[in-house]
Amino acid sequence: MKKAMISLVAAGALVLSAAPLQADAVGNGPNYGGNETINTSILHTYSEMASYLQKQEAKQKDMELEVIGQSVKGRDLYLVKYMKNPENPTILFLTQQHGNEQLTTEGALEFIKHLGTGKMKGVTDNVNILIVPMLNPDGAMGDVDFSLDDYVASGDRHLTRYNALGIDLNRDHVTKIQPETQALHFNVMQKYDIDYMIDLHHQGARSERDGELVSGSILYPTTPNVDPDVLEGSKKLGAVVFDAVDSTGWGHLGKYVGGTAETISRNGIAVEYGISTLLFEMRGMSDHEYEPYVLGQKSNGYLIKQTITTLDATVRAIADGSIESKDTSFWDTLAEQSTRQSEEDE
Ligand SMILES: [Zn+2]
Repeated sequence: MKKAMISLVAAGALVLSAAPLQADAVGNGPNYGGNETINTSILHTYSEMASYLQKQEAKQKDMELEVIGQSVKGRDLYLVKYMKNPENPTILFLTQQHGNEQLTTEGALEFIKHLGTGKMKGVTDNVNILIVPMLNPDGAMGDVDFSLDDYVASGDRHLTRYNALGIDLNRDHVTKIQPETQALHFNVMQKYDIDYMIDLHHQGARSERDGELVSGSILYPTTPNVDPDVLEGSKKLGAVVFDAVDSTGWGHLGKYVGGTAETISRNGIAVEYGISTLLFEMRGMSDHEYEPYVLGQKSNGYLIKQTITTLDATVRAIADGSIESKDTSFWDTLAEQSTRQSEEDE
C-alpha cells in the first residue's frame, strides 16, 4: 500500500514537471462521471509543498521564504518573496483560500521554479513578486473538524473548501477572525506596499461562454466603494490575463458573475488597501461533495499551464510597464459565463 502510494506521487511529480504541458482544447478533459477516477495523490501534499519551497529558497538567491502565521491546525503558512527594489511595483498572487482548489497552487509552484531560471532575471529586476500558496492547508489536506464522507475524489486525502473549523476564508476579509485570514492581512497586506493582486480559485466544471465550456473566468472588484483608479488598474490586470490566456488556443475565458460583498477578497482588499484586484476562477475543483464541480485529472495539464501563463504574463506586463497602456474595452463586450447547473464559488 505504502509502495503504491509513493509511485503515484512520483508519477504525479513527473506530470507536473513535464514540458511542454498538455495543451488540449478546452472541454477535452473529462469531468468526474466519465471513465476516469480522480486521484488526489498527484497533487502536492502540504508537506511536499513546504519542502519544495525550502528547496527552491536554498537554490534561488533572489527568493526569500517567510512564515506569516499558522493555520488552525498549526501548519505554517508561507509567503514567497522576490523583492529586489522596494520602489518597484508589487504584485501578490494568492492561491487556495479554498482548500479544494489546488491546481492554482501547482501552477504557482512551477512558476516559482521558473523565476529561479536565468530567463526571468530582467523581469524580477523591475517588479516585486509576492506569492502566498495554499492559504488553507488544513482544508487542502482534509484535516478538518467536520465530515468529508461525501467527497468524491479518491487518493490519499480529501480536499475541502472550508478551513478546519468549517469557515469559508473568502468571507472573512472584513472581520478577519480566522488565523489564516489574519496571517494574510497582518503579515502581508498591511506590511507591503502592494499594487496588484490576483486571487486564484477554481469554479465548477460546467460554465460556458458563447456556447463553449470555459477554461476559467475573471472579474474585477464590483463593490461601489472601490476607487475608480483602483478599478481601472484591476481592469488592466484583467486585460493582460485575458490577452495572454484567451489567445492560446486552449484558453477560453468568461466574465465571472460575482457579488458586491466586501467580505470577499476581490472587493474587500481593493477597498481596504487600494490594491487593484482580479479574481481568476479556473475550471473544475480537485474535490467536492457535489460531483459536477469536480474535474477529471486529465485536465490538470492545461489548468496548471493556465496559472503559469497568467502569472508570467502579469509580472512581465508590470515589469515593462505595458500594463499601463492596456485597452480595457474588452470588458464591455466580454460575455458573462452561463452555467449548465447552479454553482457557488469565489
Ligand atoms: Zn474558491
